[in-house]
Amino acid sequence: MESTGLSDTLRQLMEARGLTQAGLIQQAAAMGYSLGKSQVSQYVSGKVLPRRDAMEVLAQVLGVEADVLAAACEGGRDEGRGQERTAGMGQIKKSRKLDNVLYDVRGPVVEEAERMERAGASILKLNIGNPAPFGFRAPDEVVFDMADQLVDCEGYSSSKGLFSARKAIMQYSQIKGIPSVTIDDVYTGNGVSELINLCMSALLDSGDEVLVPSPDYPLWTACVTLAGGTPVHYVCDEEAGWYPDMDDIRSKITRRTKALVIINPNNPTGAVYPREVLQQLVDIAREFDLAVFSDEIYDRLCMDGCEHISIASMAPDLFCVTFSGLSKSHMVAGYRVGWMVLSGNKARARDYILGLNMLCNMRMCSNVPGQSIVQTSLWGHQSVNDYIVPGGRIYDQRNFVYEALNAIPGVSAVKPSAAFYIFPKLDVRRFNITDDERFAFDLLHETKILVVPGRGFNWAKPDHFRVVYLPRIEDLSVAVRKLEAFLAHYRQ
Ligand code: PLP
Repeated sequence: MESTGLSDTLRQLMEARGLTQAGLIQQAAAMGYSLGKSQVSQYVSGKVLPRRDAMEVLAQVLGVEADVLAAACEGGRDEGRGQERTAGMGQIKKSRKLDNVLYDVRGPVVEEAERMERAGASILKLNIGNPAPFGFRAPDEVVFDMADQLVDCEGYSSSKGLFSARKAIMQYSQIKGIPSVTIDDVYTGNGVSELINLCMSALLDSGDEVLVPSPDYPLWTACVTLAGGTPVHYVCDEEAGWYPDMDDIRSKITRRTKALVIINPNNPTGAVYPREVLQQLVDIAREFDLAVFSDEIYDRLCMDGCEHISIASMAPDLFCVTFSGLSKSHMVAGYRVGWMVLSGNKARARDYILGLNMLCNMRMCSNVPGQSIVQTSLWGHQSVNDYIVPGGRIYDQRNFVYEALNAIPGVSAVKPSAAFYIFPKLDVRRFNITDDERFAFDLLHETKILVVPGRGFNWAKPDHFRVVYLPRIEDLSVAVRKLEAFLAHYRQ
């Protein structure tokens, strides 16, 4: 067989056996293995190479040795090696580091929606937590202050950020009860996204494990993988208001486990963890000596009187990194303003902090105009407070979508307490759903509504999808009606 990379080899083997991608997945399932549709489609299209365990499953289903597939991967990589270079002929391949990195919040279903838009379709995008396109505006004072300071922000700042910004974040940490934070412990970033990537890159060696929630905001899993670590998903339990399952966490700790990630308030579930839940997480981190990474970007978006508690405030003896930013609370996702704060047992993390500092220095600094509005944003009137109370857009939209989704036969959803996401469950028996990505594609094609399937959040079963409830009630109402009409006849 001619081997020009795994993609060609898979196609040839599947053709020879008369197997489609769905057939391949079904055969794997019949043999007791679970292969995700988006993974298989990415292997076949050559976008992603499988890990060894997935490769062995593919090999077994296709009736070849795993080494045949491994060699095909190498063949693809080595194509052209040792041959004469011909201008314009060589393929530029992505790094092996990206194998198994998935970020489906902007994945294949979104690509299809973009293709449909280019062809003239109007798509209602319920896939991404970007407030501005839905009419949420930055507070006037924030825009005014950035404009006013723009000319003073032309140079690099210190790599951790402007003094004024870090001082304001330090004081915000004090208000949240996070102990022993000095100005040196505060780092600004181009959004929390950059800092998640940076933190995981500085922490992980190959084989190190990090406990990440399932469902998660998928950047966490992606950055752990990209950094060479292994994300180990612990279950958040829908039956228990989407709180983390402590037994599941304990059962997944090994001697390679370095850190525990929590996302609180949570994306995609909207759960806010009460003190008792946080205490149990602290107890586990303490017992197993884990560093705690807490993503709290939605901390100002809690509803129904839920109090947001920073886990770091309860763990003065543990090394904690707390993340937040202005993208959501101030509706300025495009300004790219985020930060992280180190607290607790920093002596234990001295070497890691050197690594963090090095990576921060290497990126020079975060966007300085963005930093210039941190002080203004963190204090004074918080316009977000008007959105999250009765009569406020986020509160009312949350109530509407929660009730409307639960009224659809075969759909149920836990009421989110924060942020702007809901993660409904589909009755997979009723709709015969075995593939949530296919559900999202089918929904998109028929109704022009874009949602992200549960697997995009590292949720293992095909029974969930995420809805962003940022659109106005009129638009949400159209979307829910279309979803209901679609589900009335949909059987996969
Ligand atoms: N963390 C969570 C939980 C998020 O939902 C998001 C964005 O949706 C981010 C981090 C990234 O935020 P930023 O805009 O600060 O990069």
